[in-house]
This record gives sequence, structure tokens and C-alpha cells, in this order.
Amino acid sequence: MILHIDMDAFFASVEQLDNPELRGRPVIVGGHSKRGVVSTASYEARKFGVHSAMPIFQAKQKCPEGIIIPPRGARYKELSIKIMAALHDFSPLVEPVSIDEAYVDISGCERIHGTPEETATRVKQKIYDTVNLNCSIGIAPTKFLAKIASDMDKPNGLTIIPPEKVTEFIDTLPVQKVPGVGKATFQQLERLGIKTLGDVQRLPKKIVMEKFGKYGKRLIELASGIDRSRVIPYSTPRSVSSEITLSENTCDKELLKKHMLNQAEEVGRELRKKGVKGKTISIKIKHADFKQVTRSVTLFQPTQSSVVIYKESSKLLDTYDINKNVRLIGVGVSGLLSVDTPVQMELFGADKKKNAGWEKVDSVVDAITEKFGKGSIKKAGITDVLK
Ligand SMILES: [Mg+2]
Repeated sequence: MILHIDMDAFFASVEQLDNPELRGRPVIVGGHSKRGVVSTASYEARKFGVHSAMPIFQAKQKCPEGIIIPPRGARYKELSIKIMAALHDFSPLVEPVSIDEAYVDISGCERIHGTPEETATRVKQKIYDTVNLNCSIGIAPTKFLAKIASDMDKPNGLTIIPPEKVTEFIDTLPVQKVPGVGKATFQQLERLGIKTLGDVQRLPKKIVMEKFGKYGKRLIELASGIDRSRVIPYSTPRSVSSEITLSENTCDKELLKKHMLNQAEEVGRELRKKGVKGKTISIKIKHADFKQVTRSVTLFQPTQSSVVIYKESSKLLDTYDINKNVRLIGVGVSGLLSVDTPVQMELFGADKKKNAGWEKVDSVVDAITEKFGKGSIKKAGITDVLK
């Protein structure tokens, strides 16, 4: 069985989460410019007919009280990483399809997590506990049906299509719900008198193939409940980063370093969880005037150590002359390799030895954090140790 998890009005819900004043009000996340479009509308705004991809000016006409908010990609990404990580607790087969959607193959997990419905209920609870947001989940024997199911009872829905109901479900499934059926295909199908996937099945295969070519073959397969696509787990990410918009702007490097220490911990933990090391460490600084600066350094030896990430990023900050207020600070690691990738030996081994010690510390901290939650252990006085 496969779960399709889809966050409800993700960007708008995040804005309502971060700003309680927006809760229960029509929130429209989208570009402010003249040609801007809606990326997500809250359910309150959808009642007015506002939807994704609608030009902002039109959304304003439909919903004059709508509160338009520019998207904060970094924040959404931050929560998305947490959501995807939470899904890994249920199965190693997690395939993110977008920032707020993923497939999880739970076949063979019954012993640990219970029936598919029980598993999905636990997934919903886990996501809520992790990020305080609701999602909708579809459960079905195939990806294609799971995706359709997750959309059936939004928001906060849970819909299951059990194997024995698949034939019946497909029989009455309107063709416009089928992924890949666009406007043109839909019109063509309509002209043939085809309204449901069941209708497709009743049509001679030859006609479907003639009319729709390669997609016809896919339609015939879907109509008989066959979907060969597998859940393909997350491949090696290209970078891992963490950033924070400060509650108050500051020029204080020591304060910024405190944030960077937490971020280095978070980034390091993420790298270790994913089993990757990175060569390039960078910091991102956004000033109060929104001018953004990045500084980076490439190491000889890739790392996944929080201490190394902190040391290097804090050196980068030291060499940067802060002449105006900072509103956002971030730490990132890129140039990622799997830990199994052989790396060239360092010319001088001293650093490696020192870092190996810190990597042991990291793994202990990870184990404790995993067991007792984030913030349960911190490397006390790390800044002094590193001086
Ligand atoms: Mg969504």
C-alpha cells in the first residue's frame, strides 16, 4: 500500500502558523508585482474563488479582504525538510514529489505500524506534532490512486481505496481526475463519450491506442488498475542548510554566532541522518535592506561534523565586515557526497584526527537528541573550546 501525503494549503497555512493574526482570515500567498500570481490561497480565501496560479489582481477582485503575503521560500523549505524527515520514521521508501507532497510505500510495515489506516493516522499525528500543520492523506495500492485519494477529502482528510474497491472506484472515476489528462485530452475523450476511467476500459483498446498513442497505453493500464510506477526514495540532496529570520535586526556578531551554532548543529545532524558529507560550507546574510550576501569556503576534506561546520562558518562571519543591520542568518553545506564515497587523503593528517574526535561527539549528541528531543543536549561553551 502507498500513502500520498499532501499538506493542506501549505504556504498559506505556514503563514497562519507563524502569525496567529492571520488565522481564520483569507490569506493569499503570492508575488506582489503587477504580474504576480497566487501560489497558495488559504481555505478562507478559496471560498471566494481564489485559487493557485490566478493573477493577484484577479484574486484581489474576488476577495478584497484577502491578505496578500509574499512567499517565504526558506521557511517553507525548512518545514518541508522536517516533514520529509518525519515520514522516514514510517518507511525508508519516501519519495518527495514537491515541497509539500510525498509518496510513502508502507508495504510490509503492518507489523510495526498497524493497518494502512492506522499508519496514515499516525503519520498525520506525527506531522502535526512536528510542524503543527494539517495534511491530507490518500491510501491506495498504487501511486496514481493514492494521489487521487488524498485530494478527495481536503483539508485534513484521510481516504482509503482498499484493493478490493479499486475496480469499482476506477469505474466511476471522472477522467479529468486522472493525472496527465489535460484540457485537450479531456475534450477528445468527451467527444468519444468517455466520462470515466471505466468508460475507457469498455472501449476497444485499438481505438484508445489510435486516438491517444503512447498516453492511450497508459490510460488503458490505469483503467485496469495497473500503475507500474514505484515509490523512488529520496536521492542524495545537493545541499543542506538552515536559516533564521531574526526577531530583531542586529549587528552583533556574537549573537549571530549563537544562531549559527544551532544551525551548524541542525545542518550537521541532517547530513549525518542522510549519510552524506559536504565540502563547501557557506553562510548567508540578509541585511535589513534585503541585500543578501553569501560567503563560502571549500574544505579539502568533506565533513558532516557540526563542530567543523560551526568553526568554518564562524570564520567566514569573522572576515565579513558587518556595516549594517542583519535580519537573516543562515548556514549551509553543499558539494555533498555519500559517506561511502572514497576521498583523497589529506596531505597533513592533523586536522582529520582532530575532526574524528568531534565526529564521535556528534554521534553521541545525535543519539541523545533522537531519544530525548531537540535541545536536550548542547555543546556547552563550545565557543570557548574552539578559541
Ligand atoms: Mg498541498
